[in-house]
Amino acid sequence: MPAEKNSTFDVLVVGSGASGGWAAKRLSEAGLKVAIVEAGRPQSDNNFSEHKPAFDLKYRNMAPEIIRKTRPIQSHFDVCNEYTQDWFVNDLDEPYTTPADNPFHWMGRLRMTGGRTNVWGRVSLRFSDADFKAASLDGHGEDWPLSYSDLAPYYDLVEKYVGVTGMAEGLEHLPDGQFQPPMPLTCQESVFRERVKQKLGRTVTLARSANLTRPINGRGPCHYCGPCDRGCVTHSYFNAAFTTVPDALNTGNCTLISNAMVHKVLMDPASNRARGLLYVDRVTRKSYELFARAVILCAQSQESVRVLLNSATREYPNGLANSSGVLGHYLTAHVRSGGGSGDFPTLGAKHTLGAPVKPVGIYVARFRNLKGEPPYKKFIRGFGYEGESGLDFNWRAPGFGAAYKQAVLEPRASLNVTGFGEVLPRWDNFVELDPQLKDIYGIPVLKIHMSDGENERAMIQDMGDSAGEMLEAAGAKNIRTYAHPSAPRWALHEAGIARMGADPKKSVLNQFQQSHDIKNLFVMDASGFTSNPCQNPTLTIMSLCVRSCDYLMGELKRSGSL
Ligand SMILES: Cc1cc2nc3c(=O)[nH]c(=O)nc-3n(C[C@H](O)[C@H](O)[C@H](O)COP(=O)(O)OP(=O)(O)OC[C@H]3O[C@@H](n4cnc5c(N)ncnc54)[C@H](O)[C@@H]3O)c2cc1C
Ligand code: SF4
Repeated sequence: MPAEKNSTFDVLVVGSGASGGWAAKRLSEAGLKVAIVEAGRPQSDNNFSEHKPAFDLKYRNMAPEIIRKTRPIQSHFDVCNEYTQDWFVNDLDEPYTTPADNPFHWMGRLRMTGGRTNVWGRVSLRFSDADFKAASLDGHGEDWPLSYSDLAPYYDLVEKYVGVTGMAEGLEHLPDGQFQPPMPLTCQESVFRERVKQKLGRTVTLARSANLTRPINGRGPCHYCGPCDRGCVTHSYFNAAFTTVPDALNTGNCTLISNAMVHKVLMDPASNRARGLLYVDRVTRKSYELFARAVILCAQSQESVRVLLNSATREYPNGLANSSGVLGHYLTAHVRSGGGSGDFPTLGAKHTLGAPVKPVGIYVARFRNLKGEPPYKKFIRGFGYEGESGLDFNWRAPGFGAAYKQAVLEPRASLNVTGFGEVLPRWDNFVELDPQLKDIYGIPVLKIHMSDGENERAMIQDMGDSAGEMLEAAGAKNIRTYAHPSAPRWALHEAGIARMGADPKKSVLNQFQQSHDIKNLFVMDASGFTSNPCQNPTLTIMSLCVRSCDYLMGELKRSGSL
């Protein structure tokens, strides 16, 4: 029999990452009593190791096979390493399944306050009406039930708080934001920017990124040490663990319940309202119930939908809030298996050990299928590139002795770009509960079905080809390009499996991420995205979340309940 822990909350927020942190901050600052129910451990500056050299680690960060024993999936991405591995889920304790012939690497499953924002790449880009209304333009899928003008004030609010370094470019399809002064481009990045614009008319800009160049709210500007994914004692990048969550806790209105693995949303069938949550304490393995006036899921797309599927009732036998039958369907996640690199002149620069490391690279704005241009023949929608340049010693210099030592010091400069492409929402890409398997807390796990379609395959090919074209235009030498199928499929930007829409028959949530079926149940992470444009999702996740919280508060004020 689960114990009742506390029933004094107005709102329960599941998850403390990008979305959960903002929900807790916004609501508790407005005076609501909030509990953040977070599966992970508390995060603290003591866990950060961005200044720790590898030789201070037991295995010098050179024994990936040891990490792979408990994190065979998480360690596919290099941010899960000897420094950070225990921030991530133990893949053996909390598995998921896929069809045997169709693997999907579900990485970036954090179990710390702050969720994925502990290790994210921080690229922060706005969507535009070219994205929100893409279905009307090319006929695939559904339009979002909101427009850019609805979200613009929330982008402003979030950017000012988060702190985004960026350059204004005046592009309609990649709107400018409230930027902090830009970090400088390297010489190679400047050359690439200028020549690609000149010869191909494409915009290469600083990757707009949640790294500070000016202090805000007690957070210091970046000091260019480099490995943001290991934490930051000066709090110079955006991580919910040292921004939104402490702000929420400092109001005195918010309680953080850590190690609390939510199993299901509890329903009151008589009123058709969510009445709370059932969770398992990950340390004691005991179950607890919490009660509130509203429940918000912010656990990351697959995790939130897993909770909904596990919350099935007699009234909602196929999962909570699923009268439409679309819950779990239309899984999208960027493809990024095309790109290229090349060598550039060093332009007088010398490499040194311990040189400042700029944690922000470049971004090539989408250039296919733009408004006012003829549609591209090979695919619909588009992709952008993230890229970076590097200066290094000439490790491959031939010879030996004094001449070799001299040759190694001759610097080498290179620049690489990786495509990030939009994946079309398709019914056949979906998640469901696996009837055979539970995690160590006794909670049924997900089975993920995800593969690329024709549109994605054509786009990946173009990512490789266009990377080569741009590098050539910029004068690079030794150009290497690649374009291969994204198999096994993987992603860090999953979205769309509880999608928003105006029509309750075709969607799970309305434009305020409120369940069509259950009025006091919200899902404020990327699972509500109606489509997954090529820009990175998190700035939009956070901005939508704040907008939806304002709606929730307005409704509570208006009628006292939802
Ligand atoms: C390596 C990496 C690089 C990335 N780079 C970028 C980038 O450059 N730009 C960008 O826009 N995005 C990037 N992303 C994606 C970005 O981190 C996510 O979009 C964002 O953090 C998602 O926010 P969220 O609130 O949905 O989930 P998260 O931030 O992951 O937070 C979810 C929280 O919910 C908790 N939780 C999960 N299940 C439960 C449960 N059942 N009960 C209780 N709590 C639960 C988790 O422990 C976690 O703390 C990157 C991600 C990774 C991993
Ligand atoms: S590079 Fe900047 S933001 Fe990243 S950890 Fe170092 S100081 Fe912090």
